[in-house]
Amino acid sequence: MGAPVRYSLVAEEVTAACRQAGRDPDEVRLVAVSKTVGEGAVSAALAQGARDFAENRPDQLVAKATAFPEARWHFIGNIQSRRIRDIVAHASLVHSLHELRHGERIDAVAAQLSKVQDVLVEVNVSGEQSKSGVAPADAAAFVAACAALPHVRVRGLMTMAPQGDLEAARGCFQGLAQLADEARRRLPGEQAAAFGELSMGMSGDWRQAIAAGATMVRIGRAIFSDTFE
Ligand SMILES: *Cc1c(COP(=O)(O)O)cnc(C)c1O
Repeated sequence: MGAPVRYSLVAEEVTAACRQAGRDPDEVRLVAVSKTVGEGAVSAALAQGARDFAENRPDQLVAKATAFPEARWHFIGNIQSRRIRDIVAHASLVHSLHELRHGERIDAVAAQLSKVQDVLVEVNVSGEQSKSGVAPADAAAFVAACAALPHVRVRGLMTMAPQGDLEAARGCFQGLAQLADEARRRLPGEQAAAFGELSMGMSGDWRQAIAAGATMVRIGRAIFSDTFE
């Protein structure tokens, strides 16, 4: 037996945090990060109302998206060129695009699959060496370059905050929101209208992310791990 799944509890907490921050709960999507759990836990979360799940490995994305086609599957992991076909075939949203050659490959594969792939651009707001993402100064130009690809639709930005320092996380999330405003202003009308998602906040810092304007929080341990309190 795995740990008890706490999706509905976390969903209630997210709704309460939205109200506290003066935000409409319908503007914030809870994405359940199922990368550490199996299909039993995914089933349990689905039964509690989960509709959005995220994986960081292509193999797991393919397996779980195939097993649970009723859910929306997000890809939040490191993108490798040779796995882009699997990712595009199964992901409703790719959160982690930060290299133009990958954007071009996604565009080509999406064209073959007669699809327009929704993506987010990952930005390394905190500047930590260990984190991936485009540099903040390059974000707007990178967004514009990807948005010009006909089978790629850039929906917004994603970041990961420094861990263990909630003040630093808050600054990081506010920085991402500001970069998104700047990037949107540089997009042509139709592309600007599609651009507005902010994927930020994980188990330890999602409250700060919601206060800073997150439209998607990616939560794993708080839902699925029995050692997170
Ligand atoms: C694992 C992961 C998460 C979820 O982290 P938790 O701390 O388990 O909530 C969110 N985003 C990304 C990119 C991840 O890899």
